[in-house]
Amino acid sequence: MNILLTNDDGIYAPGLAALYRELKHLGEVTVVAPESEQSAVGHAITLMTPLRVKEVSLDGGVEGFAVSGFPADCVKIAMAELLPNPPDLVVSGINLGPNVGINVLYSGTVSAATEASILGVKAVAFSLNSYDQNADFAAAARLARELLEQVRGWTAWNNGVCLNVNLPDLPRAEVKGVRITRQDTGPLVEHFERRVDPRRHVYYWLAEINARPATDPDTDYGALAQGYVSVTPIHHDLTDYRSLESLTTFIWRQ
Ligand code: MN
Repeated sequence: MNILLTNDDGIYAPGLAALYRELKHLGEVTVVAPESEQSAVGHAITLMTPLRVKEVSLDGGVEGFAVSGFPADCVKIAMAELLPNPPDLVVSGINLGPNVGINVLYSGTVSAATEASILGVKAVAFSLNSYDQNADFAAAARLARELLEQVRGWTAWNNGVCLNVNLPDLPRAEVKGVRITRQDTGPLVEHFERRVDPRRHVYYWLAEINARPATDPDTDYGALAQGYVSVTPIHHDLTDYRSLESLTTFIWRQ
């Protein structure tokens, strides 16, 4: 199996290195990732500046391609220029921090996976439920590999679907299991910190996203909070199918 590995925390992120070490047990792994951190860039692509690609050496003598762009750029350029053949699987992560609920829309990690599924390749995004720089990515990566081995034979993997996987930051024995979830839709609770710079200009910084109580265990947010691995099948088709019929009827009645 040929695997393309990318992320949004940058090519030198520990989450990517840990995942690489596990993925190489599953196949040939090529790393194409942003040269610097690109968290919360969503599905951005680079249009106004050139994309530079540098071959870099990572820990353990691993060679990778560092791209001067966004996660979606990495997937596009890997598939169009860098890989001799389309990969069998694109893996994105492991992100430092969960990507559940509305955050899925902002996530560069998830957008890299979505980009792959748009291009017709199976893709999985992995995020860890921790913001601790010293989080146990090795344990998370073992869990990620277990999950990949489990879903490998899933034959109903429809075109355009990718899996958004969130991993609990728990020792293996405390992980409760795997839950197939839907995306939570509750609003984020956040605020801007208002500060004053040394020249007395006011500036703002998006701060603390306070956790809402996780009440619904069928959502990504709820399952993760309860110690489960959350697996959400997602799709780039943003159509609201529930509204198609009533909107059509409404418009033609005018
Ligand atoms: Mn990130």
